[in-house]
Amino acid sequence: MIPVCVTVMLPLAVGSDYTYTLPPALADKVQVGSRVVVQFGPRRYYTGIVTALLDQAPQSDRQLKAVTDVVGTAPIALPAQLKLWWWMSSYYMCHPGEVMKAALPTGLKLESETRLTRDEHFAPDETDITAADRTLLAALDPAKGITLQQLEKKLETRQSLLAPVRRLMRLGAVKVYESLAGGFKPLSETCVRLAPAYADAEALNALFDTLRRSPAQTALLTRYLDLAGVAENEEPFDTTDETALGVTRRALCHDNRTQAALKALIDRGALISYARTVSRLDGQEQAEEGEMPTLSPAQQTAYDSIVQAFASKPVCLLHGVTASGKTEVYIRLIEHVLSRGRQVLYLVPEIALTTQITERLARIFGGRMGVYHSKFPDAERAELWQRQLTDEAFPLILGVRSSLFLPFRNLGLVIVDEEHDASYKQADPAPRYQARDMAIVLAQQYGARVLLGTATPSIETYRHALAGKYGLVCLSERYGGVELPRIEVADVKELRRKRLMSTPFSPRLIEAVREALAQGRQAILFQNRRGWSPVLECQACGWVPRCGKCDVSLTYHQSQGRLVCHYCGSTYDVPRVCPACGGTHLRDMGYGTEKIESEARRIFPEARTARLDLDTTRSRTAYEKVIHSFAEGETNLLIGTQMVTKGLDFGGVTVVGILSADQMLNLPDFRATERAFQMMSQVAGRAGRRDGQGLVVLQTRQAELPAIAQVVQGDYEAMYREQLAEREAFGFPPACRLIAITVKHRDEQVVAHAAEALAQLLRPHFGTHLLGPDRPLISRLQLLYLRKLLLKVDHTLSPAGVRRTLLSARDIVLAQAPYRSVQVVWDVDP
Ligand code: ADP
Ligand code: ZN
Ligand code: ZN
Repeated sequence: MIPVCVTVMLPLAVGSDYTYTLPPALADKVQVGSRVVVQFGPRRYYTGIVTALLDQAPQSDRQLKAVTDVVGTAPIALPAQLKLWWWMSSYYMCHPGEVMKAALPTGLKLESETRLTRDEHFAPDETDITAADRTLLAALDPAKGITLQQLEKKLETRQSLLAPVRRLMRLGAVKVYESLAGGFKPLSETCVRLAPAYADAEALNALFDTLRRSPAQTALLTRYLDLAGVAENEEPFDTTDETALGVTRRALCHDNRTQAALKALIDRGALISYARTVSRLDGQEQAEEGEMPTLSPAQQTAYDSIVQAFASKPVCLLHGVTASGKTEVYIRLIEHVLSRGRQVLYLVPEIALTTQITERLARIFGGRMGVYHSKFPDAERAELWQRQLTDEAFPLILGVRSSLFLPFRNLGLVIVDEEHDASYKQADPAPRYQARDMAIVLAQQYGARVLLGTATPSIETYRHALAGKYGLVCLSERYGGVELPRIEVADVKELRRKRLMSTPFSPRLIEAVREALAQGRQAILFQNRRGWSPVLECQACGWVPRCGKCDVSLTYHQSQGRLVCHYCGSTYDVPRVCPACGGTHLRDMGYGTEKIESEARRIFPEARTARLDLDTTRSRTAYEKVIHSFAEGETNLLIGTQMVTKGLDFGGVTVVGILSADQMLNLPDFRATERAFQMMSQVAGRAGRRDGQGLVVLQTRQAELPAIAQVVQGDYEAMYREQLAEREAFGFPPACRLIAITVKHRDEQVVAHAAEALAQLLRPHFGTHLLGPDRPLISRLQLLYLRKLLLKVDHTLSPAGVRRTLLSARDIVLAQAPYRSVQVVWDVDP
């Protein structure tokens, strides 16, 4: 068949795929999954992905536009990926283009809005660069990004610059602008090694002979052999052994001359260039592959049971207490799957966790592992993506939720570490997906297995495990027989009454931290709020500064000396006088991590404190620094938000303080108790992981709540039974499914009416299962007023039918003139 048209998925929130004609010259260059440049709307160009080839133009009155260009020779998305994207768009009620946009690194989906910069260090090779390229490069700023569209305007060109820009990107002259740039280490580094043809001394000597006229190349080749540790006259060596013969480009080239010489040697076929992952640990070279750990008897039993469970069930839950050595069990399983030639995806909930896990896995799997997450520069992500499509694909990928979107050719196992973690759910923008659930869908496509691991399973997962839908394997002792930490409750209400709480730390906690520090041990203080203080208040009249765009009070950040909205990021000056009464005394109420750190410095002057929260970890190096210096004992008192609760493994920590359980327990969310239990148990699990029992001081004003006792006793089962009963009684997941609907508009009247109109259309279908519309607690965000509806979807209903009903009701509402610009946001399984 000779295709004459293609359907194209665009990285946009648009209805469906669009059809374009395919000029005959391009006909043999496209396949499903190929990238094509197409025009969409006047003067806007996008890189889309071909979803189907058609041998006939569809019947249509409209004149079809032609494909402008084909990018690259190979497809960049596999049919299985397209299938997953479609599946997600349907389940999460968004456009396939939105999934595609989330999936692809920016560099692979170049579009008119992509921001670009010029690479200052690029040394052009005369033959590669045209006069037009020079003009284009000159128009780019190395420091500031401009969009492709702005560039086209600036150069007054009528043609799309997508193709030349893409070519210059391949040459390394143009880069995608990274607002987060700076301080990152590359995921992979360009290396070269000697081509196999020159493996023996004779061939190598002949090569040197031919290079006699180019001293620069001779010098470079000599330098290469030197660095690769190959002495002259040595016997034939193994050129396939990268680790022995690879030398980084950085080590070989230091100016234009050496770069040109290297390029010439590569063009000549003497050296082969390839990308090698590098360990992101400071100054530490890629580790050699190391020894497998010897599993303890309990771990070995768990391992065997998992393998056995996988024989009949695609999903298995590993319920193992903190520090039971789940990671060691994962490592064994990974090795097992890799040895059968299949790939493994290891998901962690947060970038925060990748540092330590990368280090542990790199020791075992060395260069077989690729790491993927959003704090890497886009170019590195694009490179890894493309590498996964080749025979050089990493068999093991470690990453956060977005690594689900990478191409996999023969996935055998997905590990979802800390499966209960809320970070697996993407809140904004669409697709609002739950990565743990999508891991199961992804695995299904490949016939792969999924291992969910945690000390505190989500209610949903545990129910499936108890029902036999998932395998269930338990690890109930800590590695090395260390006892679980002792948890003591500090009743803050009582302590206040007795005037024993003049600081945010209870006397017991102060004593325990002092003792730990005195013994050369470490402590962690957990406060789930960042900033200095969550509220400033006028002492005279009670006025509180609020965000001008959102219906929330502002948080004071001392380090910036400003008020910050945690919902939209806007910052404000701190008022000198109260705008309501003219009063001049604003007092700060409550504690954020900044203020806790300052108090901790005052009360524990001997401590070397460090803080781990969103504000101290803007760049990935900043994060690594905090973790490493704590792991090395350079700091000994770590203060942080929920970031400190997750999976971290520090041997020196003997004391953990949970400063306030109340804020977590009091959230207006049906999962509040479950989440609070998980967070507290997890942070408690950071204590006493190696030798001797740790101590946790749990401070709360609600010491009588059952959840507190459950945490103290480490009684997950009790928490589970109680929460499940409550959810079944009140109709919350897992007793049903939820779809949260948010209606947004600039005008409060309009949003109120639109939400009511939507509810009226839906009520006949769902009756009392539809709650709202309500004015939510935070009723305005980023200048938009909000109304919320909540739909409880009975398990007996067809999900597809429910989605159809919802979408058609929305379409009816939005078709009415006053509601045209209303936004309706669906959040499936919130
Ligand atoms: P979990 O993930 O269950 O919280 P980890 O896998 O982090 O537990 O293990 C806790 C600590 O015990 C780690 O420092 C780990 O290196 C050590 N450990 C666990 N199992 C083994 C083993 N089989 N051999 C050596 N060390 C182990
Ligand atoms: Zn006032
Ligand atoms: Zn705001």
